Amino acid sequence: MGRGKQTCQGKQHFSHPHILKPIVNPTETLTCNVCEQPNITSNFYGCNTCQYYLHENCLNAPRFLDHPSHSSHHVTLLPVPTYSNRSFTCKACGSAGTGCSFSCACCDFDIHMQCALLPQTVVLPQQHHHELELIFESPYDDEADENTVFVCDVCHDNADLNNWLYYCADCDFGTHLECAISKSVRQQEPKKLPVNKPRANRVIIRKTEEESIKIQETNQKEEEEDEEEDGGSMNEVKKMKHFSHSHAVELSEVQETEEILCSGCEDKLCGTAYKCTKRNCEFTLHI
Ligand SMILES: [Zn+2]
Ligand SMILES: [Zn+2]
Ligand SMILES: [Zn+2]
Ligand SMILES: [Zn+2]
Ligand SMILES: [Zn+2]
Ligand SMILES: [Zn+2]
Ligand SMILES: [Zn+2]
Ligand SMILES: [Zn+2]
Repeated sequence: MGRGKQTCQGKQHFSHPHILKPIVNPTETLTCNVCEQPNITSNFYGCNTCQYYLHENCLNAPRFLDHPSHSSHHVTLLPVPTYSNRSFTCKACGSAGTGCSFSCACCDFDIHMQCALLPQTVVLPQQHHHELELIFESPYDDEADENTVFVCDVCHDNADLNNWLYYCADCDFGTHLECAISKSVRQQEPKKLPVNKPRANRVIIRKTEEESIKIQETNQKEEEEDEEEDGGSMNEVKKMKHFSHSHAVELSEVQETEEILCSGCEDKLCGTAYKCTKRNCEFTLHI
């Protein structure tokens, strides 16, 4: 079959600087760098040089979500946690994560990507005769919480009411997320959440120019001397290059009171954001 038009099957992902190619019949079990799960059912893409692999579904996950558990802000897909210990605690399932997360930097809100894409309802025909609903808060009054120990109705272990549950309010039947998903008949087809597309894109990103964020400490002097931030811890200020902007940017704290809009999605910024280090350049971006 030498004559067919060759199509490049490689894909680019913002979390990795190299083209990711389909992995056919891997000889060993690979772990997805986004969801930290192995490659059992889904197609895998990867960079063999760097041992960097992703599920096809994870590769195609949206950059922004409006998630019902966090209605005040959109949540942003981060390739790695931005906390200094390089890990986050998932608000949904309560366990730690070191891979991709959907995060709101304003609120220190972080959830695993796979937790963000959990179905809103599940059916466990062996365990319960009603549909279970995904709930984000304790089903009980605040006052009751302190003395209430909630027991998962599938595994009979305690469940932390600060985390999400699958729950039937009529019967007070509730389960851990993973207990429901492992028994669910809809396991193979998790519902995708509606994607909240950024309204206007002032940052034009063409496919061929997509590049991951290259973090590089620059010791070079800028043409103009940059004003140092007063009060900021100097050691933590790292200049880096962002694929969507020609000047160096740095992570910087935006106060609630400042009216600064994201140059990408035009939503109001607060918390940590990328800011251009050039004087008079207004470029700022959600992380
Ligand atoms: Zn994955
Ligand atoms: Zn690579
Ligand atoms: Zn989680
Ligand atoms: Zn938030
Ligand atoms: Zn359980
Ligand atoms: Zn029920
Ligand atoms: Zn700039
Ligand atoms: Zn934004």
